[in-house]
Amino acid sequence: MTSSTDPRPDAFFVGDHLAMDFLNSVAMPAGERIEWLANGTDLINWLWQAGVIDAKIAKRFRSENMRALDDVAAEARVLREWLRSFVKQHAGKPLRQSILMELEPLNQLLARDGIYFQIGVGDGNAPSMQPMRRWEKPEELLLPIAEAIADLVCHADFSLIRSCENEACTLMFYDRTKSHARRWCSMAVCGNRAKATAHRARLRGKGTSK
Ligand SMILES: [Zn+2]
Repeated sequence: MTSSTDPRPDAFFVGDHLAMDFLNSVAMPAGERIEWLANGTDLINWLWQAGVIDAKIAKRFRSENMRALDDVAAEARVLREWLRSFVKQHAGKPLRQSILMELEPLNQLLARDGIYFQIGVGDGNAPSMQPMRRWEKPEELLLPIAEAIADLVCHADFSLIRSCENEACTLMFYDRTKSHARRWCSMAVCGNRAKATAHRARLRGKGTSK
């Protein structure tokens, strides 16, 4: 959640995949570039809003060395722009094996992970192995993002990764609708705007045909 003094609108979570939401953490919703990962506090807030960390972990990190957190946010922005060029290059068609060569920066990040398992209660009350993180260092904040990107690369159908059809909009999403006919980042932001423009055009058409 952004504070009441923050002039920015809330970040967008319309990507239908954490990695796509991460890509959308900088956007131009009204023609002006808005950065939601400008510093360490931003990164913590975004991860919390994305449901990646809970309020307790967020609070703990907020009391940490801000300088170190700012550095991690800077690293997150670099990772995000690496992801953007990867996604832009490959969106709209299935990924080919040759992309493995391009994934070195991601693999390096994944190698830092220290996930461990605990047995908890899973479906139907059966014991289940649950991945955990220790959340000891600010650098760890990047790892769930790296995991989400890895999931996108390994499991998503890249032919369904699209940009919003509004040319002025920079938001992208993974179209997981049944019909695979999703066109907009959201109906509220761009869909309705496009509908209104089309409606006005129709009205103008009627006006001139009289
Ligand atoms: Zn849009």
